[in-house]
Amino acid sequence: MQRIKTDGLRSGLKYAVPNLSDRPGGDRTIAAQHIHALLPSEPGTYALILHCHTAGEQPVGALGQVRTEVGFYIYVGSALGPGGIRGRVARHLREAKKPHWHIDYLRRTMPVTAIWYAETASVQEHHWALTIDNWSQAEKLVPGFGASDCQCESHLFFCSVPPSLPAVRERLETTEDQTAVVVKSVAMDR
Ligand SMILES: [Zn+2]
Repeated sequence: MQRIKTDGLRSGLKYAVPNLSDRPGGDRTIAAQHIHALLPSEPGTYALILHCHTAGEQPVGALGQVRTEVGFYIYVGSALGPGGIRGRVARHLREAKKPHWHIDYLRRTMPVTAIWYAETASVQEHHWALTIDNWSQAEKLVPGFGASDCQCESHLFFCSVPPSLPAVRERLETTEDQTAVVVKSVAMDR
């Protein structure tokens, strides 16, 4: 059985869904459906935790070939448009037929294992990226990834072990202008 664990939003509530991982794309669809119902449609900031199973090189649009390692990647983004966090994350969980963002390329080979998110009215993705960049668990970054339109070095960070939200939650819960927000997480337990 595959379980989707929630933290914060509806703590203690667990969803058990059939394990369809032997059907191509099946588990992704099921997980996306369940997660869709859990996430708010309010605007916000999010981080996708991706699991990289094999080291190698991947083409990532204008960035060219990007080297990936076995471990976990944290990708930071904003969902301030229509559909909010729910709409944007649901899009990331579907495999993009036509890649648009850098992250669409990585999603072809890396499943999302967890999502961290906060309802934020203003842009906090660069603050999150800088916070994670300065965090000891984030060992490396992929230069320029997801950061074509900003001053950040990157919006993609590598951790060799699963990144721990409690370890960085407090720093993410204070916005750039010192407003308090609540960071929640949804994890797919395989
Ligand atoms: Zn940025």
